[in-house]
Amino acid sequence: MSSFIETSYGDRLKAAYDAEVKRQSETVELIASENFVSDDVLKALGSCFTNKYSEGYPAIRHDGVGRKGRYYGGCEFIDNVEELCCELWQQVFDTDYHVNVQPHSGSQANFAAYMAVMEPFKDEILSMSLDNGGHLSHGSPVNFSGKMYKVSSYSVDENGLIDYGSIGSQIKMCHPKVVLAGASAYSRIIDFKLIRQIIDECSTDEYRPYFMVDMSHIAGLVAAGCHQSPFGYADIVTTTTHKTLRGPRGGLIFCKPELADKIDSAVFPGTQGGPLQNVILAKAVCALEALRPEYDEYIHRVVWNASAMANEFINMGYKVVSDGTDNHLFLLDFSTTHPNLTGKQVQDYLDTKGITVNKNCVPKETRSPFQTSGIRIGTPAMTTKGWGITEFISCAHVIDGYLKELNAL
Ligand SMILES: *Cc1c(COP(=O)(O)O)cnc(C)c1O
Repeated sequence: MSSFIETSYGDRLKAAYDAEVKRQSETVELIASENFVSDDVLKALGSCFTNKYSEGYPAIRHDGVGRKGRYYGGCEFIDNVEELCCELWQQVFDTDYHVNVQPHSGSQANFAAYMAVMEPFKDEILSMSLDNGGHLSHGSPVNFSGKMYKVSSYSVDENGLIDYGSIGSQIKMCHPKVVLAGASAYSRIIDFKLIRQIIDECSTDEYRPYFMVDMSHIAGLVAAGCHQSPFGYADIVTTTTHKTLRGPRGGLIFCKPELADKIDSAVFPGTQGGPLQNVILAKAVCALEALRPEYDEYIHRVVWNASAMANEFINMGYKVVSDGTDNHLFLLDFSTTHPNLTGKQVQDYLDTKGITVNKNCVPKETRSPFQTSGIRIGTPAMTTKGWGITEFISCAHVIDGYLKELNAL
């Protein structure tokens, strides 16, 4: 108790801050959804733009469409930044879809997208099941998405690949209002074109679901041409900007022009108040960086590194879900090779060794999401730090050594 009183909060905050800076510089970061942003992105995030309220939208959209404008004065420069940010993101994905750069996070982007096209407590979402790699905001019962909408799901087959056939049969059976593609723990290419075809085949004059893609994890790969693009196929595309895109924490929504007004009003005033303009400035910086050729090279390295590391684990006798990866991440499944190991034990043990991973459910999971039978490994963060194939392969052997130690405990 006395130490609580004697220690000033300032000192304790400083100590925690310094420790986190040290942790980020010294540990091996293999969490697939994390990255290290540039100094320019950090500078934008720490800028005076955080001081400004700017509820609403710039009065004239970059494509000339008039909007209601802002609720406060003093927004003329903020307006320029937000419009430039929208234009830059259209360039990153080479699309003329409408863009909303205000969502505070990926979950907020999804919330607004649902609100734009679905009626709560009535309409249904069809999404990839959570224990097969889907995301909390895709209809989990503990999340708003699962509480506000009916949810049905499709899964992966025995090879760990999306069962595209089940998407069609689920659409016919459940008549969802939104068919959602996108995942947090799926290591293969998602065939957006095929899903569009399936949706079209299941549609009639009276029934036509929206096709929404949440590309949060793979957005950087789409930007760099390393993954099929959802643009042209999806009606709505959401993403985070802080994963493979290597920008500030935040979300983006893209949509076909005919949905622009619905999406904009679902973000504000529908589900958010004032936008985080310092984050929007940082999103613009992130887009500028993603347009550089160095970024494409970076993403190619991320993909090569993931595939080399996954193959090394396979060569050492581990089970990798779907036997490899096409993207920036893969799942180690211990259920058959190391049935005594849980993902939680592995995550905790590797934490003590300075290697950060996360436990993850595997297909046909028998343990709870708090235990799991696998871990997820991703290469974006350490590739940013300069790791190449050699470092990732040695890291696979280091992890193998620790797993053997853990198994022997
Ligand atoms: C990370 C992620 C999100 C959520 O992003 P937050 O910014 O954490 O809310 C949504 N969808 C998918 C597929 C994700 O991987």
